Amino acid sequence: MKECIFCKIIKKEIPSSIIYEDGEILAFNDINPQAPVHVIIIPKRHIERVSELKAEDSELASKLILAGNEIAGKKGLIDPGYRLVINCNKDAGQEVFHLHMHMFGGRKMGWPPG
Ligand code: 5GP
Ligand code: ZN
Repeated sequence: MKECIFCKIIKKEIPSSIIYEDGEILAFNDINPQAPVHVIIIPKRHIERVSELKAEDSELASKLILAGNEIAGKKGLIDPGYRLVINCNKDAGQEVFHLHMHMFGGRKMGWPPG
């Protein structure tokens, strides 16, 4: 997967502002933030899209959400609120085909999403 930009971020071949890392998960600030807090949370394993998760990936999937909650907590966003988003394919606007969850916070957000 040498063309995958997020795999290059995992391998530190492309610099990023990392805010959380463990053996399975990496979180870093989005390069083009859409909110005062905009963090990208990814599995280190290359999975192209959320629809490809299998039952055996349940623990990994929950770790993404738990990492989002932990980062939100550290940034004081639990009470004001935050948003976790996973885009899948073109109608949702997925641009990077390495599974990632966005964590947005720090401003009031609209609903429904655009
Ligand atoms: P998507 O539209 O695929 O759900 O979101 C991809 C996100 O990745 C976008 O918010 C975009 O700004 C972010 N992104 C793309 N390339 C890079 C990069 O090289 N570094 C960082 N930190 N974020 C990136
Ligand atoms: Zn990748």
